[in-house]
Amino acid sequence: MPSENKFITLTPHTALKNLEKPYLYDIQNDEIYELNSDAYQFLLKLCRGEKPSVRKEDEAFIQFCLSENLIAFSETPLQRKMPLKPSPIPSLRYLELQITNRCNLQCRHCYLGESSHRDLSLKRIQKVLEEFEEIQGLRLLLSGGEPLLHPHFWEMNDILRNYPFRSVLLSNGTLITEEVAKRLRVHEVQISLDGMREGHETLRGKGTFEKTMMAIDHLQKVNLKVSVATMIHRKNLSEFDQLASFIKSKNIEEWNVDVPCVEGRLKANQEFWVSPSEAGHYLGYGYGGGFHGSKNNFTCGAHLCAIMVDGTICKCGLFSEEPVGSIEESLRKGWERVPRILLKDLTCKCPVMEECRGGCRYRAKVQGDLFQPDLFQCYARGILKGGE
Ligand code: SF4
Ligand code: SF4
Repeated sequence: MPSENKFITLTPHTALKNLEKPYLYDIQNDEIYELNSDAYQFLLKLCRGEKPSVRKEDEAFIQFCLSENLIAFSETPLQRKMPLKPSPIPSLRYLELQITNRCNLQCRHCYLGESSHRDLSLKRIQKVLEEFEEIQGLRLLLSGGEPLLHPHFWEMNDILRNYPFRSVLLSNGTLITEEVAKRLRVHEVQISLDGMREGHETLRGKGTFEKTMMAIDHLQKVNLKVSVATMIHRKNLSEFDQLASFIKSKNIEEWNVDVPCVEGRLKANQEFWVSPSEAGHYLGYGYGGGFHGSKNNFTCGAHLCAIMVDGTICKCGLFSEEPVGSIEESLRKGWERVPRILLKDLTCKCPVMEECRGGCRYRAKVQGDLFQPDLFQCYARGILKGGE
């Protein structure tokens, strides 16, 4: 091996994670690599600042890690905090953290309804960050309301990179100026874009489209990854092809397309709601992502939970009425109590079960009961045809 006299260190944007299996997580690129026990032990030694002897059979692994910029040579050893305590099983990988319910917009489909101007205190946010690190989480999703309106947003922003997980800001984009984009320390911003100008502004208000477009440009200019979230609604159906071309032109790697639930303000604006037989087709436009996903024997959200603005812990933001704990107690305890819905308990019996895995359990619940098929997915996947 070249550079025999040097130390090998993990690069700053990587972290070891002891989840169901050992992994090396590339925080910057959101890539996760499963490790065998030899590779894990080797990387643990690097974290301790040791200089492990390199065997012939280790060389290909080291070359791979170097080529992926996961490790680097260094003149001095660099000690890193290690995952000492194994994560719970299933592991909590994705955490939605609602830091405020303040918002500068009044979107007609917002599931939160009217804002009560509540914020999660900075002290509680810091507790969450510490515990999410301890539990070996991968992706923190900062949500609201509009998270930028949290009175201590910038203090929180400044400490985010101290933690070995990826942070994603979920924003409506209208407050992201050039200056704001430059100050952000998150790894990614997910922008809500609910159509082209007309479809977007019908829901979100006049003047919002231009500001959101500017936000995408400002963020990309400072090399922040931008993903997009779109809600299917009555006034954007005809705009989807144009929206898809726009998203492609901006090289957006992740487009999360979903259906709003009839909650909050949508209860008073139900003319925007689209039925499963109409909306199913449009779900197919989305790509990438996957933090809501099903895994092994579990249905959706197998590795996800949410902390709401009052500090309660629940399965996800849509299950806020069924809290299972509070951050005052501990994230780990709350996570262990999140109800696990098993694939085998669903009444779904269809040929695409392996790919679909039952869709969204909240949608199933509001359509009837927690264990029935999610009709939006049944139409999206052609199991039900329009008009059935
Ligand atoms: S219930 Fe729906 S929103 Fe909640 S985790 Fe499952 S897919 Fe996601
Ligand atoms: S397509 Fe429908 S029935 Fe099939 S797994 Fe998905 S939700 Fe269940």
